[in-house]
Amino acid sequence: MKIGVLALQGDFAEHKRMIEACGHEVQLVKHAVQLDDVDGLIVPGGESTTIAKLTGNSTDCIFEKILQRAQDGMPIYGTCMGTIFLSRDIEGSSQGRLALMDITVRRNAFGSQKFSREEVVSIPALGAEPFSVIFIRGPIITKCGADVEVLAQVDEGIVMARQGNLLATAFHPELTSDLRVHRYFVRMVEQYLHDKRTSTMSFSVEPQLQFV
Ligand code: GLN
Repeated sequence: MKIGVLALQGDFAEHKRMIEACGHEVQLVKHAVQLDDVDGLIVPGGESTTIAKLTGNSTDCIFEKILQRAQDGMPIYGTCMGTIFLSRDIEGSSQGRLALMDITVRRNAFGSQKFSREEVVSIPALGAEPFSVIFIRGPIITKCGADVEVLAQVDEGIVMARQGNLLATAFHPELTSDLRVHRYFVRMVEQYLHDKRTSTMSFSVEPQLQFV
């Protein structure tokens, strides 16, 4: 198994470290061709307006290729900026995004950098022990479609959700030493590979890249 980490922008090095700590190989993805031999993809935290600009300037169809792999069922995990980039709608913005996941997000929902914070949250999908979530100018998921499973919430709203092969966290598990979110994603990738081998996949996600 090889997991890709989109390395165009943001804290991709921290995700690489986490996946390697889970015992798996990482491919940093800067070009479309590097998506050919990954079995899952992490879109890191960073600045969504920056990656949005890249969607309009990409020359090697990397974003189209991500959509194609998502449609084939490859798991994608977005962290913070990655959640915004996966979302179908962004409140008050039409900035470029993959628009794969049936969620609406509100950017910078916790306020500016000085309101960034860490808190302990119960995430039953990760086990009984609470998870320490770190928000850095993070978004909140304000709306979810019927196929979206809410996995964690704080007072401000939803901060972790899954829709089939798509996983989103508004927080940054890669800045902790707790591997449980990355292990959860690794299990999604294992399931994808298993389904591929046994050809029992059925996917409902329709790709619709929103370029500006
Ligand atoms: N505030 C950033 C944005 O809206 C996301 C910040 C992050 O990924 N930590 O793009």
